[in-house]
Amino acid sequence: MRKKLVAGNWKMHGSLAENAALLGAIKPALAGIEAAVCVPFPYLAQAQAALAGSSIAWGAQNLSEQVKGAFTGEVSAAMLVDFGCQYVIVGHSERRSLYGETDELVAKKYMAAQAAGLIPILCVGESLAEREAGVTETVVARQLDAVISAAGVASLAKAVVAYEPVWAIGTGKTATPEQAQAVHAFIRSKIAALDAGVATGLVIQYGGSVKAANAGELFSQPDIDGGLIGGASLVADEFIAICRAAAK
Ligand code: PEP
Repeated sequence: MRKKLVAGNWKMHGSLAENAALLGAIKPALAGIEAAVCVPFPYLAQAQAALAGSSIAWGAQNLSEQVKGAFTGEVSAAMLVDFGCQYVIVGHSERRSLYGETDELVAKKYMAAQAAGLIPILCVGESLAEREAGVTETVVARQLDAVISAAGVASLAKAVVAYEPVWAIGTGKTATPEQAQAVHAFIRSKIAALDAGVATGLVIQYGGSVKAANAGELFSQPDIDGGLIGGASLVADEFIAICRAAAK
């Protein structure tokens, strides 16, 4: 059976004091449960110190597609590895829409992450306009194809995919379990057409206003293998309950 994985995306939130309280609460409560938190770059050392030796992994929310050099303000995959990161989010819809990240750039970041031994959490998903226009599958397929044609389908054996409908991120509007399951099944079948083994093992997370109250129903869908959690990952009791729902 595939594992379920919940990852928190803290976005640009937190402080040393707030993080200490949050990490201090989730670490003992999630003992033995595999989970992850993706924190802002300046707090990677704090996450590493607080979570080392626990069942909670940590990671970043972005990385450079470059290996090293004169790229002011950028952070490389090797630097993330230096801080013990296991995961890095690539292609989050906020990076795509606010910072102009194209499918091609996302594919380069995905490859840079894997080349350094990180597990990319590859985000895909349609906007509200795209859903209403009936092109959800076309959009998700295009986003996946950019990575598959650059890195190969076999690369997905060392990646996580997060389906995040843009209209559900931070809006309080969650996709229904049926809506999410339909897209997850589409993703898995698309990959299965290229490599059945990779498709069967692939962890496909759902993201978009997941809370303790809706996590159980979402995670009980056959192709939903946990979640990528934004707002609720900043609230210890919510994140703990969501991770426990995935571990059931
Ligand atoms: C996210 O940031 O990836 C996300 C899904 O946010 P939220 O859970 O707040 O919708």
